[in-house]
Amino acid sequence: MTSDVHNAQTVEAFWKRVDRRGEDECWPWTGRKWQQHGVYYFNKNSNAMAHRMSWEIHYGPIPKNKVIRRACGLLTCCNPRHLVVGSYVPPPHRPCPRGHKHDPEYAAWKAMRRRCYRPSCADFQNYGGRGITVAAEWLNSYDTFLAYVGRRPSPKHSIDRIDNDRGYEPGNVRWATAKEQARNRRRSVKVSAFGETLSLGEWAERFGVSSDTIRQRLERGWDPSRAVVNGAQAVAT
Ligand SMILES: [Zn+2]
Repeated sequence: MTSDVHNAQTVEAFWKRVDRRGEDECWPWTGRKWQQHGVYYFNKNSNAMAHRMSWEIHYGPIPKNKVIRRACGLLTCCNPRHLVVGSYVPPPHRPCPRGHKHDPEYAAWKAMRRRCYRPSCADFQNYGGRGITVAAEWLNSYDTFLAYVGRRPSPKHSIDRIDNDRGYEPGNVRWATAKEQARNRRRSVKVSAFGETLSLGEWAERFGVSSDTIRQRLERGWDPSRAVVNGAQAVAT
């Protein structure tokens, strides 16, 4: 939040939504809320937490990486006398009663199912919306999925489908970095030559030309039937 949004008009609109009581009493927010916190909407796309706005109106910009706590304990309180600056402390790690909620692998499993089966998911159109599914044995069993893919090798890895046109199924899923996934996407570009349509990777395997070479040749405008074969073969065909 920048201080330029705190013009007189905004400040006035802000206080209209606060029930300002006695000096030492709590000043509850009466506007919209999100998870019990007051939220002020500048417009449809921009908002700020009410207690943070109150602090900034009184004391100036909130120092970087600091949080504003309500010393009184009332989450909607906007009385600046009840607001104190604190450092963010991550919540204590509570092990899940089912044993895995906090695992990145569990998050990956949940996200995979969401992309494929929940139309309200932003990515649905690129997954479920175009027929990408999750193998039945994984769909309802996180443990089976985890047993197959194993632990995530690093935070840079995410679940990748090797063949982009096939679903999340054994044989088509692995952990891969963004870089590896981009390379894989390039490799799986389809090329038609000699009456067949194969991926770059498949052409590369067939004629022993690297998929990068084929891609570069195609970018230079080569005819696909020349691009996928090596020089000697090109002469022969
Ligand atoms: Zn209070």
